[in-house]
Order: sequence, then C-alpha cells, then structure tokens
Amino acid sequence: MAVTRLAVAAALSTAPPSSRRRRGFLHSCRPLPAAAGATPARPAKALRAAAAADEEAPASATAPPPDLSRGLENLVIIGSGPAGYTAAIYAARANLKPVVFEGYQVGGVPGGQLMTTTEVENFPGFPDGITGPDLMDKMRKQAERWGAELHQEDVEFVNVKSRPFVIRSSDREVKCHSLIIATGANAKRLRLPREDEFWSRGISACAICDGASPLFKGQVLAVVGGGDTATEEAIYLTKYARHVHLLVRKDQLRASKAMQDRVLNNPNITVHSNTEVVDVVSNTKGQMSGIQLKRSDTGEESVLEVKGLFYGIGHTPNSQLLQGQIELDDAGYILVEGTAKTSVDGVFAAGDVQDHEWRQAVTAAGSGCVAALSVERYLVANDLLVEFHQPVREEKQKEITGRDVEMGFDISHTKHRGQYALRKIYHESPRVVCVLYTSPTCGPCRTLKPILNKVIDEYNEHVHFVEIDIEEDPEIAEAAGIMGTPCVQFFKNKEMLRTLSGVKMKKEYRELIESNK
Ligand SMILES: Cc1cc2nc3c(=O)[nH]c(=O)nc-3n(C[C@H](O)[C@H](O)[C@H](O)COP(=O)(O)OP(=O)(O)OC[C@H]3O[C@@H](n4cnc5c(N)ncnc54)[C@H](O)[C@@H]3O)c2cc1C
Repeated sequence: MAVTRLAVAAALSTAPPSSRRRRGFLHSCRPLPAAAGATPARPAKALRAAAAADEEAPASATAPPPDLSRGLENLVIIGSGPAGYTAAIYAARANLKPVVFEGYQVGGVPGGQLMTTTEVENFPGFPDGITGPDLMDKMRKQAERWGAELHQEDVEFVNVKSRPFVIRSSDREVKCHSLIIATGANAKRLRLPREDEFWSRGISACAICDGASPLFKGQVLAVVGGGDTATEEAIYLTKYARHVHLLVRKDQLRASKAMQDRVLNNPNITVHSNTEVVDVVSNTKGQMSGIQLKRSDTGEESVLEVKGLFYGIGHTPNSQLLQGQIELDDAGYILVEGTAKTSVDGVFAAGDVQDHEWRQAVTAAGSGCVAALSVERYLVANDLLVEFHQPVREEKQKEITGRDVEMGFDISHTKHRGQYALRKIYHESPRVVCVLYTSPTCGPCRTLKPILNKVIDEYNEHVHFVEIDIEEDPEIAEAAGIMGTPCVQFFKNKEMLRTLSGVKMKKEYRELIESNK
C-alpha cells in the first residue's frame, strides 16, 4: 500500500465552553472553610464595580473586536500544570469561577511538563505510581467538575499595570481583579547552527514522546545534559535504542546519586564527560547521521555517529509575558514574597515559574493551592469578590472506539483506528482523510486527540479520521516516514495534502479540511 504519502494530524480538544452566567451571589453549596464566613454577598456593588472597571479598561490598538470582550472576572489563571490546575480546583471550590488559560503551544502543552513523562512515582495518593498524562487528566477533570472555565489557548498579552488586569489570548480578552501565573518552564535548546533543520527530524526535547518512533528504534542515539532530566531520558531511550551516549559538558554528572548509579551501571549507556555538541552532521540524503563534538578540556573535535539527539539540558521559566511589569530574578523566575505574592498586588505566582529550586509536581501543586487561597483573601480584603454557583458537570469526552477492529470495518463511520481501516479508507474514501499517529506514552498525543476529535466532528460528512498507534502498527509508521508523535497527515484521493507534526493551532486543521473538502 502506498502509505508513504499519508500524513499524520494531531489535534487537541478544547473543553466545551462553559456557560458563563453569573448565578447569584449566595454562599457556596460546599464552601471552603475560609470562604464560608468571609464571602460578602454584594451583587449590586460588585456589578457596579465591574461596569466601572470595564469603562476604565485601557484602549489598545491591538485589542480584539468588542464582541470578543468579556465581563469582569474574579480570577484568571494562566497555566495548566499541577500549579495551575490545583489553583483552579481551590478557586473553583471557593466559588470564584476562575477562568483558566491552559496554553496550547507557546509555553508547552496543556497539562504542562508531566505530559512528557511516563511514570510519576512520588505524587502522594498513588501507591502504584501513575503516568504523567493520567495524573494531569485527573487534575483537569477535578478543576472542571468544580466549575473552572478552561480554555486551551495561549495567552498573548497581559497588562497588570492598570486595573482591572487585562489578559488576552488569540480568541478572547478577559478583564479580572486577580491573576495567578502558573506558566511553568520550557525545555532549553542548544541553538546549534542546524538545529532548526533537524528539529523533529532527529533532534527532540522529549524522549518519552519520540523515543518509540521508527526513526529512533534500534538506532544509536545521544542525550545531552548531566542532570536528572538527561539521565532519565538516557535510561528511557535504552528501551528502544541500540545504544545511548550521554554527553556531559562538565567533568561529572549533576543528577541525583540514584540516577547516576542507574546510568553508570547500565551497559547500554556510555557517558562522555567534558563533551560539547557543536552541530548536527547529515548524510547525502539529508538525514541526520551524526553529531560533531568538541572536548571542552582539550578542544579536540570528533564526529559521533548517531541517528538522534535528545535534549535534557533544563528549562527556562515562562515569565516573558510579565517582563517589565512584575519583579523577576536574573534568570527570569518570578520573585515571590512568602510563597505566592508578587511585586504587584493581586498578582500571584505558583509552580516552576517562581521556583528554581524544588521544581516538583507536588511543590507546584502546593504553591497553586497557596496562590488560590491568597487570591480569595485578597478579593475579600478588597471588597471585590463575587461568588458564582456552579452546577456540577461531568465531562463526557468522545473517544475513538475500537469498533473497526472489533466489529468489522464500516466506511460510513467517520472515525476509525488501525491499519486495516487505513488501507480501506486510503483506497476507497472520496473524503479528506486525516491520519493521526500516536504512541501510548506520548502526553501531547493525549491532549491533541480530543481537540482533533472536535474538529473532525465539525466536518463529519467531509472527512475520514484514522488513528494509528505507532507501537501497534510500526510498519505503517515507518512507511509513512513518521519521526515523532503526535503527527497528523492529511490526504485526498491518495494524494498527500500535508503533514503536521506536533500540536498545531486548531485553525490549521480546520483550514486544511475546509479548503479540500
Ligand atoms: C521529563 C520530566 C519528568 C518529571 N517527572 C517528575 C516526577 O516524576 N515527579 C515530580 O514531582 N515532578 C516531575 N517533574 C517536574 C514537574 O513536571 C514540574 O515540576 C511541574 O510540572 C511544574 O508544574 P507547573 O504547574 O509549575 O508548570 P508546568 O507543568 O510547566 O505547566 C505550565 C503550564 O503553563 C502553560 N503556559 C505556559 N505559557 C503559557 C501562556 N502564554 N498561555 C497559556 N498557558 C501557558 C503551559 O501550557 C503549561 O500548561 C518532571 C519534569 C519533567 C520535564
């Protein structure tokens, strides 16, 4: 079958837009102790304040059209890692109805850094461990259950210099009395001369996401870095790679003793100390064939033959939005007084964006809790709090079923799974065909699936969707040239239209279907 032209599409699901209605100002059905006696019921005043504040909002040349503007909110939370979701759970339980911008691409995927890991074995409450994506799914559902309003959008603009604060994403503008920044941190890059050329074509910052892809399976690979992230990645990659080289700039590893022992005792890992990566080397077909190295002690240069290079060199805090508006330290971490309070009243920070030392899921979650409780106190003390009452709503997500596999293929269905369906649809479908390549341990795949599902639902009659698990169907992934997951390929009449690697903006998937349906 000519699947070499198939392309992979990845999609993220947005939470169904919650009905944003102020529901009165009575006490909570299940109030938090801190909120029970303290929350004033002053709707008229609060609404008047909201209206006045709306009038005060600074006019901006780049502001979206007025119909996208919203009312005045108690609280906006930016970020959906353990810090953001924990803050959302506490604030929603206190009837603040927080508006949460979960992110999409700029500062990492919705769910944050744990979406890129497998087992989390140190988060309390899970004696047998839990995968990072499962843990984040649970936190998200808990926040949504208590009425947090979730948007899978990147925040592009923040103004905390005047009040109310203004938060703007690609799709909406929100004005609010208080803000929690929980934007976490992003993987650092080496900025090699040919890095962009080989990004996702040999270079990756996520071993967990990409390690299982055919490009890397059975190959010799390299990981750069000397800390816990790099050592974890090197150990993980030995599941798939023939051999792993760990490249350490200093003369020794920085990782914990336990991780060092695991690496040094693993016969499939070679540690190269005093070694820097200079650039990527390619073969005559333009594929990555190795990396150019330089010894930092002798200056000696050499080429190491590897088919993949994984980055494990740490993170940069995602505080760019607030630069020049609140106090940051030299490395860009938000400075907090005590645990969550920033240099601007009403602005709080939680998680890795303000923590360069501990950087753990549980510490991020703890600081998210402190930030939400601090917000509640701040709103009460400043007579700003307006309570919302949320109906408890259970999210029902449409999942792709294994129906094709278990009950026989039916081309009249839109969504399918597995290589049999793909072969049939590729040859027989007159519609736009969207193929999503995933792998079981890939967190971004998990966030992308429901979003892609939603886009597919919008074009039901005009599109066929097939999900391919690259571990179940490695030969298909190989034939299609899949180098990492998630990856989405679109085609029509056996012609490939486009390949979209990683998580793209929803509109990109929509536009592709729309223009080819
Ligand atoms: C590979 C790996 C394995 C790990 N394993 C463990 C472990 O086993 N146990 C443990 O305790 N910790 C672990 N950690 C550390 C842990 O993941 C972090 O400490 C934790 O996720 C930090 O949470 P956070 O909420 O502060 O930020 P993050 O998890 O980084 O989340 C930040 C969020 O902000 C969003 N965001 C950023 N910018 C914007 C924007 N402009 N607009 C909207 N949203 C935005 C992002 O989309 C993301 O949702 C691991 C980390 C890594 C990288």
